[in-house]
Amino acid sequence: MRDFQADVIRAAITGKPLPEGGFSWSPARMQLFRFCQRAYFIRYYLAQGGWNIHAHPAARTAYLEKHLPDFNQFLSRTLEQSVSDALFYAVRREKKERTDIFRRALVQGLERRTSALIIGLEKQDYLTDPKLPGLLETFHGETDFLHPEKVGSRCAAVFSKALPPLLEEKDLKEKIENLEPLSLRKEELLALNWRSFIVWLHAGIICTEGDTVTGIRFHAMGKQPESLLPDHGLESALFREYVRQKMHREKTKFNIFSFDEAEKTAYNTVEPGPVAADRVDVSSTGMLRMVRDNGEVYMNDFALTTEPEKCSFCPFRQTCAMIRSNEIQS
Ligand code: SF4
Repeated sequence: MRDFQADVIRAAITGKPLPEGGFSWSPARMQLFRFCQRAYFIRYYLAQGGWNIHAHPAARTAYLEKHLPDFNQFLSRTLEQSVSDALFYAVRREKKERTDIFRRALVQGLERRTSALIIGLEKQDYLTDPKLPGLLETFHGETDFLHPEKVGSRCAAVFSKALPPLLEEKDLKEKIENLEPLSLRKEELLALNWRSFIVWLHAGIICTEGDTVTGIRFHAMGKQPESLLPDHGLESALFREYVRQKMHREKTKFNIFSFDEAEKTAYNTVEPGPVAADRVDVSSTGMLRMVRDNGEVYMNDFALTTEPEKCSFCPFRQTCAMIRSNEIQS
């Protein structure tokens, strides 16, 4: 049997080939490939096996950078998980009690997850298991993120501004009042069959009302460059495709609650983009072309971005710096 771990280490050190190991596609994968091919290599190839404490430091760092959320991802995920938990809890109760129960459960969920982050940042257990609470900015040593209590206060400030408008959203209020437990689903990732591979999609909280299926996502807006912003139109089109393929329904809504640190919020239905099929095909073909005829990938085939201003936003900048420094000789 092939020693995959040895392949990873050899690839990092000498640029030797990696096994391709099964292809799947997602909007986030497309986005990173366009952002920088080297970042894509780090995320989808080098980080594999980095969970092992005996792995090469570059693979370990890549694994950490792959799993740690940045601040905005943490805010988005925390709000989504807390709304989801509160909704599931509330719709099991009497209709007249639901709104109050939802509010209380939502606030408790946000407080619990924010406290877990503060403790996680203090204990730094995320350095050995990045699936535990932590932040990419703290790992990268960004000065605004070095004091756990201040990070916690910042989270609390964002949520306290986002909550009142969220709780006033007519669509959400109707769902709290009318949904039945069996009409709700929370799925981390939806898997869609596409040609010869799987397309992964994060559609958030999924509600079925009559013949309409709604996905609700939460998006904390930051200062990312355009190339790192999610393509919600594409995600909406893929969600429609998923609902047709797996749920056998034609009507979908893809709703996004956006919020930021400056109290700006919006709750919008995103129309499906027009050419999802073409975009998946073109994008996946570009990625698969990077795999050589022998089924392997080589780090040096994945170019560094030609726009160095992107690097300060890159989630994989520490691994990239290790690879480019004398720590790893090619
Ligand atoms: S730091 Fe820059 S060159 Fe390196 S992977 Fe990131 S974007 Fe690409």
